[in-house]
Amino acid sequence: MTVNSKHVLIVGVGGLGCPASLALARAGVTQLTLMDPDVVEPTNLHRQPWHHLADVGQPKVHSAAAKLERAFPGMQITARQERLTAQNADELFTTHDLVIDATDGVDTKFLLSDTSVRTGTPLIYGGVLRFEGLAMRIQRGGPCLRCLFETPPDDALTCAQAGVLGSMAGLIGGLQASLALRAPDLLPKGEGTASLQVVDGRSLTFRSVRVRRRADCAACGTENR
Ligand SMILES: [Zn+2]
Repeated sequence: MTVNSKHVLIVGVGGLGCPASLALARAGVTQLTLMDPDVVEPTNLHRQPWHHLADVGQPKVHSAAAKLERAFPGMQITARQERLTAQNADELFTTHDLVIDATDGVDTKFLLSDTSVRTGTPLIYGGVLRFEGLAMRIQRGGPCLRCLFETPPDDALTCAQAGVLGSMAGLIGGLQASLALRAPDLLPKGEGTASLQVVDGRSLTFRSVRVRRRADCAACGTENR
């Protein structure tokens, strides 16, 4: 499948979703679905470049879609002002070729990961907090987010609570777009493995960590099949 025939779903149109959608559009992706229940708030503006002061109070999906359509005439953008839930997740994954996790909530990240494993639609996980960023491509068969973290931590902070470096969100969102568009022959070899990209914004170091599927993983483990 060529880049411009891919239909990509971006869940979250904030710090990660804005730069990821720009990078995908520049690479030639013409069909995007944007999904986010929230409206633009003044505190979003420093790290969410599609949203301007005049957009405060507007749904994020409409603000972002308008800027993308202006910059890339001919793009087909679907704006869904709603939350990803256990009820709509499977239908959304099976009607798109790839999903970008640009959310800022641990429970939604695990729901995205579990749905990717179940439906087989690839997911590009991304996360930023303070000065650190993570990104990983989740494929059918795993490894998945539960292989990394097992269960959602009870005390996980969101970006809004802990703060995040605006440039780090831009970096990880762009990295997610790159992982989304990589040819399969550039992906790590071997079934049940993936590369977790780890970016340290303080030392400006990038690491690629090999992740293996855990046999006892509740979502993708072979012991549960
Ligand atoms: Zn797993």
